[in-house]
Parts: sequence; structure tokens; C-alpha cells
Amino acid sequence: MKKDFKEFLQEQIEEIKSSGLYKKESVITSAQSAIIKFDSGHEVINFCANNYLGLSNHSSVIEGAKQAMDTHGFGLSSVRFICGTQDIHKELESRISNFFSTEDTILYAACFDANGGVFAPLFDENDAIISDALNHASIIDGVRLCKAKRYRFNHSDMDDLEKQLKASQSQRYRIIVTDGVFSMDGDIAKMHDIVSLAQKYDALIMSDECHSAGFIGKTGRGSAEYHGVHGKVDIITGTLGKALGGGLGGFTTGSKEIITMLRQHSRPYLFSNSLSPAIIGASLAVFDLIEGDTSLRDKLMSNAVYFKEKIGKAGFDIKPSDSAIVALMLYDAPLSQKFAARMMEEGIFVIGFNFPVVPKGQARIRVQLSAAHEKKHLDKAINAFIKVGKELKVIN
Ligand SMILES: *Cc1c(COP(=O)(O)O)cnc(C)c1O
Repeated sequence: MKKDFKEFLQEQIEEIKSSGLYKKESVITSAQSAIIKFDSGHEVINFCANNYLGLSNHSSVIEGAKQAMDTHGFGLSSVRFICGTQDIHKELESRISNFFSTEDTILYAACFDANGGVFAPLFDENDAIISDALNHASIIDGVRLCKAKRYRFNHSDMDDLEKQLKASQSQRYRIIVTDGVFSMDGDIAKMHDIVSLAQKYDALIMSDECHSAGFIGKTGRGSAEYHGVHGKVDIITGTLGKALGGGLGGFTTGSKEIITMLRQHSRPYLFSNSLSPAIIGASLAVFDLIEGDTSLRDKLMSNAVYFKEKIGKAGFDIKPSDSAIVALMLYDAPLSQKFAARMMEEGIFVIGFNFPVVPKGQARIRVQLSAAHEKKHLDKAINAFIKVGKELKVIN
């Protein structure tokens, strides 16, 4: 006899709990910021938000949202192609295109949707998608929804990428797909090499700039700018939910033909609601702040350099990276959980990651820097890391 469905689920939930993979949500009662407050009243300095530019609670961004609500209302109650496109949606799309030096941009409810809806309209069984093994879940799902032949290359392994490019030469079109910055190690995709290989083997390139748009590269245009190949990536996807305001929303930007095709056939665009004017107004304010002014990304990057230098000097083992993500390696899963819990007691909010989010034996603490952090926040975190590191015998 089969079990009651709820009982069946409850057993699986217990299994998730006993394997240590159950995800609990901490409840915050403050805005997202350098300092956040939990419902327990505990206040901590936050090092685990994607609030890279400190815009999640920025006064101009909030003002942009309010103004757009005053002039354009709260919601659209429509998809874009029926009656959900306002002048400000077009304006934001054009601002994003200008930012990336592309021809056109299409907005989505999230980058999860941008990635989910980018492949099927452009490629079919005659084509090939060549994807980095560590690409984001939304890219994996998007590829699954497309009939193109799938190839995978070992993470950032250019020899393996070349092998896959050779293997896919009989397909009509090929596209290399990569995250711009990988969220667990903080490493930046080797865009320069990818561009060379794409030229050699006649491939298109797509990069997902969720952890880089707005701050990686000297004017924040992302991983291609960082590697000196700005303008050589055919399709860029990104989120408005991380550095660029942190509210909600995603985008795909590229040539006018690609974006036109997506507007016609991309399912998450066609069958999902238009972004709220508040989000659009806030995002326009974000681009006002960062388009011609690098001070926020400069502050973020100097915070990251300062933090890495001090933590490295203290004897911690960190993954080398030029992004705003620092992977502080502990290798041992229980140790990573204990370390994070002790940091919380010290008033520093960081997360310990272990298998299956990272490979077995690669447990770590991930630290995300922000332009919202002041030097005193960084120093407090560094001192807490050193204190807890000594206590748990991670450093001497
Ligand atoms: C966060 C993230 C996404 C999803 O973005 P949302 O706008 O939150 O849906 C997609 N790709 C990468 C690499 C991400 O880090």
C-alpha cells in the first residue's frame, strides 16, 4: 500500500535534515545593508549578501522607485507585448544596452528567466551549446529546454573547451556559455582565451554577468572588460537583483537580431508579467549612479583587496581571485559550520559552504565584500576571523 503523500514528503524532509542539507531561513527585520538586524534583535555586519555596490538601500535608488510609482503606478498587470510596456521599460533597456555597448536589451522578471529563455528561441538540434561545468543552475535549466546538442567543458579548462569545440564542428552554430564570475570560488572566466577559441572555431559566446556586472573591469562592464575583450561577447545576461540595486529583474543584451528573436519566442518573457515601475525607476537611478562614475566599484574593489591582503597575511588559505568574492578554505565540513557559527557570535555574518554546493573536501567560508562596508567593518571582521581562526586552530 502506498503511503499518504504528506507522510511520503515528511520522510524526505527528515532525510534532508539528517544529511545536514536542510536550508533554514534567517529572518531579518532591517533593510539589506552593511549592518543587518535579525528578528532575535542580534545585529551583525553582513558579508553574505550580493549587495556588492551597496545599492540595495541607497537613498537615490529608493527615490527612483518612489518617483516611478508616482508617475507610472505600481504594477502593469500585463505581459510586455499586450499592454505591459511603458516608456521607462524602453528607457531602461536602452540604458543597459549603452552600458554594455550592445544594440538592444530585453528585460525579464529575473536572470533565472533570462537564462531559462535564451537558448530555445535561438538554437535547435542542428546547433551546439558548450557549457562550463560550473555554470549556474539557471543556465543548466535553460540548456535543458533547448534541443541543441550539449557539450560540457571542465571548469575554466581551455584545453577541454578546445576539445569540445573540435568535437562540435559538424554542428551548424556553436555557442560557448560561461558565468562571468563563478560564485563559489570567485574566479573570473578566462574571457580573453574564450574569445580567441571562439574566433578559431567559429563559435558565439554568452556570458552570465550576475556576479560581475557593475563592478568587474575598470568601469564595471564585467568579465570581458576585465580581460580586455569588451564588445566581443555576443550575448550577456545579468541580474538587477545583485549589485544593480538588489530588487528583482534580469536582462539579456546583445545584437538587435538576437534580442528581437527573444522578444518573439522567449517563453519567460512572453508568458510572465512585466517588471513593476518601482523596479524600473530604481534601476534607472542605479545606472545614473554607475554609468559614468566608478567610485562605488572602486571602493568595493579596494575593500576586497584590503580584506584579502589582511586575511592572507594572517595565514588563512584563500582562493586567489580578483572578484568581490573571497573563498576562505577550511576543507572540513563540520569545521566550516562551526567557524560560521562562531563568527555570528562575534557579530559577523558569513556562510560556511560544503558538499554538495562545493566539491567534497572543499568546505569553505565565503565572504562577499560590498561598497557599503567601511574600513571599521572590515577591520572588525578581520579581527574576528583571526580570533576564531586561532581558537579553532585554523591559523597559528
Ligand atoms: C543569481 C544568479 C542568477 C539568478 O539571478 P536572479 O535575477 O536572482 O534570478 C543567474 N545566474 C547567476 C550566475 C547568478 O549568480
